[in-house]
Amino acid sequence: MTESATVTQRGAQRWARGHPWIFKSDVRKRPSAPAGTVRVRDDRGRWLGVALWSPSSEISLRLLDPDPDATIDPRWWRQRLEQAIGLRRDLVTVANAYRLVHAEGDGLPALICDRYDRWLVVQLLSAAVESFREPIVEALVQVTGAEGVLARNDVPLRTREGLARETVLLYGDVPREVIVTEHGVRYAAAPWTGQKTGAFLDQRENRVLMGSLATGKALDCFSYHGSFALHLARQAQSVIALDSSADALVRARENATLNSLANVECIEANAFDYLREKDREGERFDTIVLDPPAFAKNRDSLDAALRGYHEINLRAMRLLAPGGMLYTASCSFHMTRPLFLEMVEHAAQDSGRRLLLRQVLGQPIDHPEVVTIPETGYLKGVVLQAAY
Ligand code: SAH
Repeated sequence: MTESATVTQRGAQRWARGHPWIFKSDVRKRPSAPAGTVRVRDDRGRWLGVALWSPSSEISLRLLDPDPDATIDPRWWRQRLEQAIGLRRDLVTVANAYRLVHAEGDGLPALICDRYDRWLVVQLLSAAVESFREPIVEALVQVTGAEGVLARNDVPLRTREGLARETVLLYGDVPREVIVTEHGVRYAAAPWTGQKTGAFLDQRENRVLMGSLATGKALDCFSYHGSFALHLARQAQSVIALDSSADALVRARENATLNSLANVECIEANAFDYLREKDREGERFDTIVLDPPAFAKNRDSLDAALRGYHEINLRAMRLLAPGGMLYTASCSFHMTRPLFLEMVEHAAQDSGRRLLLRQVLGQPIDHPEVVTIPETGYLKGVVLQAAY
């Protein structure tokens, strides 16, 4: 690797402060090489490390290794992957599906890998990582012994890197459906067609917690395949799994049957309408989960998103029976933790109820949020209890 990039002091400072990205505007001398790895130095000639180089992206350089002499060969990938997998060692005993690689959160920029039992689903989210596709897949198979690797590269982010959006099998075979076991609950994930890489793995521990707090009548809004509903149903008397997608609810119903849970009712509805209507009717629930999709897809839609979050939270708070528990979450990166907590406070003010903050929750260990890299964090939630 002879190609190098020279970056400004501002660019160099980003690495010094623990953030792996250097933007286009901070690259003083651009490498002429195609996407791959390059050595990086500052404009005083000091070598800073090896980075992934994406020529057409706004994020030009992503730090891979602070050793400028590091060789990014199959052994290097294996070692970095083993490190990431080591962090998840404890999860193996409680679940057969979890994230093995959380991109920048694991020092593997733009690379996502989720394990679904004996199969892996990857996302290669930069041109540079795409150029290492073969050694990465090889290393993943070696380290995990996986029987198949599927790329769910059908995400908009790839367009910004000049990459095609596609779902392709990269190794072996991957089934259409994989049964996930998660702390004693089982549900079917759909690697080829499901949302994200086939399921929402990031709420695993939060589901267990809400399952343990659930009582009486429970409502799981934005239920998707019923993952929260299944956990709630083990303890609550009855559970409503609500989603606007009929397809998602077909899966939720199948999942309830898979767990021999007869107390789950699936309702196809718009959560906004449903919550408003139930509030008007004076209905009460003992347990409520609000796990909506990202309302704020970008900074510009934040205001509208805030109104949406406020509305559903206000209604859910008003629907809580005295002593009832509400888990409310946001997976929108732009909805930062402080903004989220402020929204919860405003909704509580408007609800006329007295709400106790029981827990502040975030991402599990397989989705590591690095303190100096805000982009590695997106999920936040709180458990609230209605005092009366
Ligand atoms: N709680 C789920 C993940 C939820 S994903 C889990 O833990 O696996 C968000 C879900 O919200 C999707 O299934 C989507 O169909 C649904 N959805 C989006 N807008 C909605 C709306 N207005 N009303 C009800 N459901 C909605």
